[in-house]
Order: sequence, then C-alpha cells, then structure tokens
Amino acid sequence: MNICGLQKTTLLDYPGRVAATLFTGGCNFRCPFCHNSELLEGPVEAAYSEEELIAFLRKRKGILEGVCITGGELHCVPTWRILSKIRETGLAVKLDTNGYKPEVLKDLCQKGLVDYVAMDIKASKENYKKVAGVPDLKMERVEESVEFLLQGGIPYEFRTTVVRGLHTSRDFDGIGPWIQGCSQYYLQCFSDSGQILAPGLYSAFTKDEMLGFAGQMRPFVKKTALRGIDY
Ligand code: SF4
Repeated sequence: MNICGLQKTTLLDYPGRVAATLFTGGCNFRCPFCHNSELLEGPVEAAYSEEELIAFLRKRKGILEGVCITGGELHCVPTWRILSKIRETGLAVKLDTNGYKPEVLKDLCQKGLVDYVAMDIKASKENYKKVAGVPDLKMERVEESVEFLLQGGIPYEFRTTVVRGLHTSRDFDGIGPWIQGCSQYYLQCFSDSGQILAPGLYSAFTKDEMLGFAGQMRPFVKKTALRGIDY
C-alpha cells in the first residue's frame, strides 16, 4: 500500500475515536470536486514505508484509538497485508471507500480487518457517472457495495458531499429510497480548497438548502445529519 500522507492525530475522521489518518495513492473515480487530485493518478511515491507506519502506530498506541484509511481509493491497491499489521497493533480500522470494488470490500470485512466503513454515495443513480467523473461507470458495482453494507454485518455510514453545480434536490429523491433503512447518513457540504480537480466550477449550498436536503432524506434514514457545516 502506498502511504502518501499521514495525519498523525484527528478527532474528526473516525467517529468517537482519536485516530490517525492514512492517505493512499490512486483512485478509480475522478470526482470533479476531489480535494486529493494529486493522489489520484498513482502510483504516487510513498511518503512512509509500512515499517515506519507500524512503528509510528505502536509508539502512539496510548494516544490513538483507531486508524482511518482514506484516499485516493484504498481498493486500488493490495491492502490486506498492511491492514493485518495495523490490526496487530490493537487499533481499530475505519475504511473510507467509494464502493467501486465490492469484492474487495466484502473480502476485507469478512476477514475481520475492518471495524467501520464510510462509503460515499456520490449522487442518485441517474447522476452517478457525472458526479464520479467516470463516463463508463458500472453502476451495479456501487449497488453491490450498498447492498452489502445495508445487510448490517459491519458498522457503517453512507455520506454524500453535496456540490452546487453537480447536485440538485432530485438526487435526494433518488438516494432516499435507494439507501432506505441504512443506519446513518451524512450530508457534507462542498468547500473549494483551491486544489480540486475542476477548480472554479462549483460552489457550496447554503445551510438552509443543506437542511432542506436532509429533510428530504429523513423519511428514509432517520439518522440523517449535516457534517462539517460551520457557516
Ligand atoms: S472517490 Fe474520493 S479520492 Fe476518488 S476521485 Fe472521488 S473524491 Fe477523490
């Protein structure tokens, strides 16, 4: 696994745990609002070896409670070996994923290497290709991951980064029935870091608009909340 970045401590990335966040290189999507554009093409030069990472985690074990692995997209690279090593440190593992490799997601979960999954729901099915930036996207791959997580075998959340210029209320008309019954769903407001894939094209919705989208979702997912909105 290419470890391209390491945030040594975060209270935000792993719900309820003090965690470190690893950034991996490579992704099979090209979301135009992606903040990690420099990590997408892969292979990207690793910033840390696996040995350095494990040594760091062992050293910080009294402080850290978990490790969040985010992208890029973890599933683009072989991961089970490093996940096994992280598990041996006793830390919990959270996996962020776009769900485009359901076979890998299932395998890692069934091997007991993951404690929590956060999967992106990029948009309604009709709008998915555009928002994921993949013209020949195979929607059934995303649907398979959603179905797997909905079975509830592992703690998970679904989440959508909501972007003016890509999403409308019609997306939530579609997402609601699709993920009905899921345990928790978060709407995250887009912000332009200045390093996104398609700069200058998109903006954020207002807080009231975001609350409106959340209201659309609640009949389908009781625990729907906004995340990271501080305006
Ligand atoms: S799935 Fe995530 S890492 Fe991949 S392009 Fe989209 S936002 Fe970026």
